Amino acid sequence: MKAAVMHDVSNIVFEEMPMPSPSMGELLVRVKSTRVCATDVNMYRGRHPGSFLPRILGHECAGEVAEVGDGISGFKPGDRVGIDPVISCGKCYFCRMGKNNLCENGGLMGREANGSFAEYTIVTPERAVKIPESISFDVASYMEATGSVYRSLCMTRLLGPGASVAVLGLGSIGMLQTQFAKIAGANLVIGVSRSQWKLDLALQLGANVVVSAKEEDPVEAIMRLTCHRGVDVVIEAAGVPDTIRQSYEMVRSGGEIIQYGIGPTSVDGINTFLQYYKEITTYGVRAVTYNDFSSSVKFLEDQTIRIGPIITHRLPLEQTAEGLELSERQSGKVLGVVINS
Ligand SMILES: [Zn+2]
Ligand SMILES: [Zn+2]
Repeated sequence: MKAAVMHDVSNIVFEEMPMPSPSMGELLVRVKSTRVCATDVNMYRGRHPGSFLPRILGHECAGEVAEVGDGISGFKPGDRVGIDPVISCGKCYFCRMGKNNLCENGGLMGREANGSFAEYTIVTPERAVKIPESISFDVASYMEATGSVYRSLCMTRLLGPGASVAVLGLGSIGMLQTQFAKIAGANLVIGVSRSQWKLDLALQLGANVVVSAKEEDPVEAIMRLTCHRGVDVVIEAAGVPDTIRQSYEMVRSGGEIIQYGIGPTSVDGINTFLQYYKEITTYGVRAVTYNDFSSSVKFLEDQTIRIGPIITHRLPLEQTAEGLELSERQSGKVLGVVINS
C-alpha cells in the first residue's frame, strides 16, 4: 500500500509499505479521510514530546472496512466507519473507571502506533463506529474533534441556558466550541480571533458577538460586553501564551476556563493570586472516551454541528506533508485540512 511515512523531523516520504493484514480480533480499514490535527503538525515539526520514528502519522480518520479478522462479529467488508484514535488496554485503573482516554498502557494512533496517512490501517472493533450514509467520510474525520469538544463542555458546571462564553481562537476546534456553546443554551457566545473571515464564519455558526484581537484588546472587549464582570466560561482554543493569560483576566469570579488548546511553550505571567481571588476552575481535556466518540454521530448526522463550512482544504495522500504545512501556516483562508487517501 501507499503511505506517507515520517522518517525525521519535517521529513515525510510518500512510499510503498507492506500491506497490513488483520490478526485475530482486528479490522483492516481502507482509509478515506483524515483530518489534520495540531498534534500531527507538532509531531511533524518535532515539537511533540515522544517520537517513535519511522511512523505513519494521522489519527482523526474514517474509512471503509476492507477485511474482518477472525473472531469478530458485527462488521463486514464495506461497512462505513469512523475510527476512534485512542488506544487503550481496557484493564487498567483508568479504563475500568470509564476513562480510557487516560489509559496507563495506551496511546494514540499515529503516535504510539502507525496511523492513517495511508491507504489502509488496522483497528480493533471497539474503536470502529459505524456511520450512516448521511455522514460523509470527510465529515466523519471530525468525529474525534466533535466528541472531544462535547466532552470538554460536559465538564463545565456553568455552561447552559443564559451563560456567557468567550471562545479564544477560531480554528476548527474553536468553530466546534462556538457551535456547541450555542446549542448548550448560552445566550452570549463571543468569538475572538485575529482573522476577520474567521470572525464572519463564527457569526454564521452561532457566535452572537465577535471581537477582532487585531483591532481591540480582547480582555477590555470582553469586560465591556459583560458589565465589567467577565464571562462565565472561557474556552481557550488557541494554545498560545497570550490567549492563555487573557483567559484568567477575562473570566468572571467563580468562573471556569476550559484549557483546550495545547502548545509546547510554557506560559509565564499567570499569577496564582488571580486563581485564588477569583476562584477560577480550570479544566484540561484529553481526546475522547468511547462514549464521547460515539456521541459525535448524533451531532453530525442531522448537522446539529456543521462541519462543511469548517473544511477549507482537501489534499490527496501524496500531499500529506503539504497538508501539514498548510495547516501550520494558517495563512490565507485555511481552517480545516483533510487528507483523502
Ligand atoms: Zn487530534
Ligand atoms: Zn487502560
